[in-house]
Amino acid sequence: ENIPVSDLLADPVEKIEQVNCTPHPAIPLPVEVFEPARKNSFGIDLEDSVDLASLEEDVRAYQMPDAPADATAEDVTRMVDQAHAASLAWADTPVEVRAELLERMADKMQERMIPLIGLCVHEAKKTYQDAIDEVREAIDFCRYYARRARIDFEEIPLPGPTGETNVMRLGGRGVFACVAPWNFPLAIFTGQMTAALVAGNTVVAKPAPQTPRIAQAAVDIAHEVGVPKDVLHIAPGGAEPGAALTGDRRVAGIAFTGSTATAKRIQRTVAEDDDRPIVPLIAETGGLNAMFVDSTALPEQAVMDIIASAFFSAGQRCSALRLLLIQEDVYDRTMRMLTGAMDTMNVGDPADPATDIGPVIDAASQEKLCGHIDHMRQRIVHQIKVPDFDTFVPPTVIRLDEIEDLEREWFGPVLHVTTWKQGKLEETVRRVNALGYGLTMGLHSRIADAAEEVAEEARVGNLYVNRTMTGAIVGSQPFGGERMSGTGPKAGGPHYLPRFAVERVVTVDT
Ligand code: GLU
Repeated sequence: ENIPVSDLLADPVEKIEQVNCTPHPAIPLPVEVFEPARKNSFGIDLEDSVDLASLEEDVRAYQMPDAPADATAEDVTRMVDQAHAASLAWADTPVEVRAELLERMADKMQERMIPLIGLCVHEAKKTYQDAIDEVREAIDFCRYYARRARIDFEEIPLPGPTGETNVMRLGGRGVFACVAPWNFPLAIFTGQMTAALVAGNTVVAKPAPQTPRIAQAAVDIAHEVGVPKDVLHIAPGGAEPGAALTGDRRVAGIAFTGSTATAKRIQRTVAEDDDRPIVPLIAETGGLNAMFVDSTALPEQAVMDIIASAFFSAGQRCSALRLLLIQEDVYDRTMRMLTGAMDTMNVGDPADPATDIGPVIDAASQEKLCGHIDHMRQRIVHQIKVPDFDTFVPPTVIRLDEIEDLEREWFGPVLHVTTWKQGKLEETVRRVNALGYGLTMGLHSRIADAAEEVAEEARVGNLYVNRTMTGAIVGSQPFGGERMSGTGPKAGGPHYLPRFAVERVVTVDT
């Protein structure tokens, strides 16, 4: 049931109490079926609440709903009309109300775990583990931003040395456009939308054209728990709703995750219109992410982390390892172990729990990646065979002569590898920096000073030492890059919400 924003203003807590949201009892999980996954940052072990024995059955039987129709440019204008009209009232709702709504969304997502996992497997071609992690991360974002909002949106008293009183308040900017990618169709979509909402903005959210159903499920949950329909809108589709949304003068802020090229196009669009306010863009884009392996690294651990970072999720994470840099002395040994381990990977149907790596998102992506692999065929050092149905891309390792030979991000299971010489660690980090991106970096080393040395030199948002370089946990590893990789602030971090808000200072002379 839709609660008009004016009702929330009149009687906020009672209104929310009327929204029916009963959490489901947890069902125990036989963990041996899967790799045990970490608990989320709030201590909720989602695997404990899923019966994995029946999960496969449920997911295989899951029938996706019809995709929502694409929004036209006119539809988007209508949504912005409504969101704009609702924005003042929404900005005036107490932050406690908005935070409570996010927590209710989290409860509802937990209750709907099975269909959400089904959607992630069927619509986004995710493996079970990735699908579970995805739902968990979406829930984390809801709870984390609810908690942060209560802190960040407290009025801040400031000193008044000349006798006046000063207070600072954060408030909504107005209508926020949230433009999400298909690779985290629930987690990133939910993260952007909830951050914008809890900061007091009304939202028009555009999911990627590949994953509209998952986004619709998230928006339905938000509406069900009481987010008013005029406050939150979904505009599925591709370029048409995208251009109408970012081009609308009344859009006061944009959160975008996707390619660097699209982020720049959005920046141009909002800058071009002289009569438009200056619009902040929060962009999280691509990366040319490198991992260093030195001669002291534990080879088994390094190899497992390389496999997970480069190939799991079919390499479709912006954090994924693209450029493996092995110290020359251990190149042969590391490659022997890596290629051996690659041969044990299961590439197949994501609805099969034994699958490690599924297909890539669509035929267009498959074609681009296979084109690159074909272009580099003389340099292939190892490749895994894949099924010939669906949109599989063979996990491939390509040898480069130089770091600089990697010119762009290839968003799939393709790993480029080259070597570096002992004593040249810092210099090599600088060469990686010079590629222009700054998202993630990895290091495998047992030299105590190496981590600090790389941390000093690296111009990246997230540096991971002696572990995988993907799978940032909300609240523990705030995620996001710099330079060509994005504007910050980091998603799931303490500075995220204030960037969705305006700051106002009121000074009263007494
Ligand atoms: N946060 C994800 C991770 O740490 C990556 C997000 C993305 O691919 O956009 O792996």
